[in-house]
Amino acid sequence: MLAREYPDARCALNFENPFELLVATVLSALCTVVKVNLVSPELFGSFPGPEALAAADPSAVEEIIKPLGLFRNKARSIVGAAREICDKFGGRVPDRMDDLVTLPRVGRKTANVVLGNAFGVPGIAVDTHVARVSRRLGWTQAREPDRIEVDLMGLFPSSRWVGLTHRLIAHGRSCCRARNPGCGECVVASLCPSVGNPSVGNR
Ligand code: SF4
Repeated sequence: MLAREYPDARCALNFENPFELLVATVLSALCTVVKVNLVSPELFGSFPGPEALAAADPSAVEEIIKPLGLFRNKARSIVGAAREICDKFGGRVPDRMDDLVTLPRVGRKTANVVLGNAFGVPGIAVDTHVARVSRRLGWTQAREPDRIEVDLMGLFPSSRWVGLTHRLIAHGRSCCRARNPGCGECVVASLCPSVGNPSVGNR
């Protein structure tokens, strides 16, 4: 049902390669994708790969990403990640979960975004929308993203994990909002145990 409703759901961050997606995902923390997409052309134009970003003066990076908020921390994180990619992984973004999560500010969610969208490796990236909608639908009782990820992985074949992530995010943004969810127009309302009681997912 969600696939029919959101047939074109995809990663909303603009990127040309795994490195750009990794950086854009780190930058998107507590910030909108639209804002990240606005600064990324200048960022990747000035620092087109791990080597260039690893050698960057952090203040020059801060200047570009200032509109995103938390820009000092984020600049430190992406320059630090670029240095580790150069030092430990030969200048290439690793394509294994165990390696990705060793990079600064890269947890399982960011790693799954990169693996699923840049490398074609199945994974479920649990953000606030995926967590909320999954709880409301009764697919998980968990609050911790890692446990939600495991619960969803047990419910769906791996071939659907990446698409499921995008559809849950699309549904969370457009209909199953944190406040004032649109249960009256919801395409999965007939299957949802939280219809009419959507505070369930917010706990
Ligand atoms: S019925 Fe309401 S709570 Fe359930 S998924 Fe739809 S919008 Fe969310």
